[in-house]
Amino acid sequence: MNAETISQLYRERFSDRSLIVVSNREPYIHRKTKQGIKIDTPAGGLTSALDPVMRAIGGTWIAWGSGSADKESSDDDGKIRVPPENPAYTLKRVWLDPKEVDGFYYGYANQALWPLCHMLIEKARFRMRHWQRYFEVNRKFADAIIPEIANKKDVIWIQDYHFTVLPYMLRTRSKDLTVAMFWHIPWPPWEIFRVIPQRIEILKGMLGCDLIGFHINRYCQNFLECVENELGTEVNRENNTILYEGRDTRLVPLPISIDYNKFDEMTRHDKIQAKLSDIKQKLKLEGKYVGIGVDRLDYSKGIAERIRAIKLFLKKYPEYCGRFTFIQIAVPSRTKIQEYSELKEQIEKMIDEINEEYGTDDWTPIIYHAANIPHHDLVNYYRVADMAIVSSIVDGMNLVAKEYIASQVDEKGVLILSEFVGAVAELSNAIIINPFDIEHFAEMIRKGIEMPEAEKKRRMQKMRAYVQTHNIFDWINDNLNAVQQETL
Ligand code: UDP
Repeated sequence: MNAETISQLYRERFSDRSLIVVSNREPYIHRKTKQGIKIDTPAGGLTSALDPVMRAIGGTWIAWGSGSADKESSDDDGKIRVPPENPAYTLKRVWLDPKEVDGFYYGYANQALWPLCHMLIEKARFRMRHWQRYFEVNRKFADAIIPEIANKKDVIWIQDYHFTVLPYMLRTRSKDLTVAMFWHIPWPPWEIFRVIPQRIEILKGMLGCDLIGFHINRYCQNFLECVENELGTEVNRENNTILYEGRDTRLVPLPISIDYNKFDEMTRHDKIQAKLSDIKQKLKLEGKYVGIGVDRLDYSKGIAERIRAIKLFLKKYPEYCGRFTFIQIAVPSRTKIQEYSELKEQIEKMIDEINEEYGTDDWTPIIYHAANIPHHDLVNYYRVADMAIVSSIVDGMNLVAKEYIASQVDEKGVLILSEFVGAVAELSNAIIINPFDIEHFAEMIRKGIEMPEAEKKRRMQKMRAYVQTHNIFDWINDNLNAVQQETL
């Protein structure tokens, strides 16, 4: 499946029904800089996965206008055609005031739901004022969506944990709407979910959907268990459906993916060799075995565990000192939340310590880059790296693992992958680690480096073939198939 086929299939299946995507993060952010307005594409799996889909299908994407120059670059309705270089769909921005951002985004979404769904109960903070703002912002989004519905059969596709009560709000405005949702993070077991004071409102809110997608079936099963226990509703485990207040909601496991061809093509670009030489020279990588980690700086990503494993690896195998360099790209994220600013300090301290202890005048064990790198540059780093390490302690899917695979056009790279990411079920040819088992993790770094070239190639070929045929357009096709079945 590719961009052209998905666009054609959408027209065949949905003819005059438009697609309205709703997410918190916008795909293009206009920012004021001294040099004028700059357009950023944010780091994050959701926006990087959905932008190619919207480019192919067209429609409207409704999201929070978070950039300092967003207002002046949009029309009176908050609308702008994107992507800027080749407009294909409409981005409609919703304006949030600082108190709303604080309560909805930093508060309930990222200090309550995010840690709880990642099963880190002790990090979750539930504040009534955060919940109230979250609820109000969901209503604000409902108000922004309604005028965009031209045909009551338009497909409204809500993304993620920022909008748990929005589906029910839309449903109360019209029973006939088609409302689907995709949940991009894990859904926890009931024993953890039951900690949330507003759990009933959340479940009822989500049951306003016709369809809810999760990455894997275990998250669907967890959701069913929560509904059964909290709402006392009968659920059908065979076809993953819930009948609530006379309406059906179906759950579907649909592992998200990436635009494989985009990464593959970017890495085959004519100028790539020159770019790779530049990076190698600038970072003094010539003759080194290079590892890479690419993450938003989030406690779920297991960055501290990774650094500990690298340190132990260098300690146990000193013959690799001076020969192994790790590049850690860590994009600062949610820095207004104390937990995140503390994490940044912790990671930077750990990296300084290892570099101090093991580094020499011409070798830095861990090269740290704390800024967002756009995809067209990121692929050069994926290409330079002989090994990628994804060591999340919990992760709904993890797209970086799939992007690294798509960028290995010479089929040489090795992927070390945590057993706690959604992607592990699909990528069994990676070297699988438990990020909490530091000794084994360090051993697997050595195994990855010393693995015979033929085995590296065999594993990478298999993973590339899988991601190529299970790409973002296959994922959207599966989602649309499921929506169509629900709303015939
Ligand atoms: N990303 C990026 N630039 C960076 C770091 C990350 O564009 O400097 C992108 C990365 O390519 C991937 C996304 O951010 O598409 C991260 O998605 P993932 O599913 O791995 O994690 P999430 O951040 O959504 O939890």
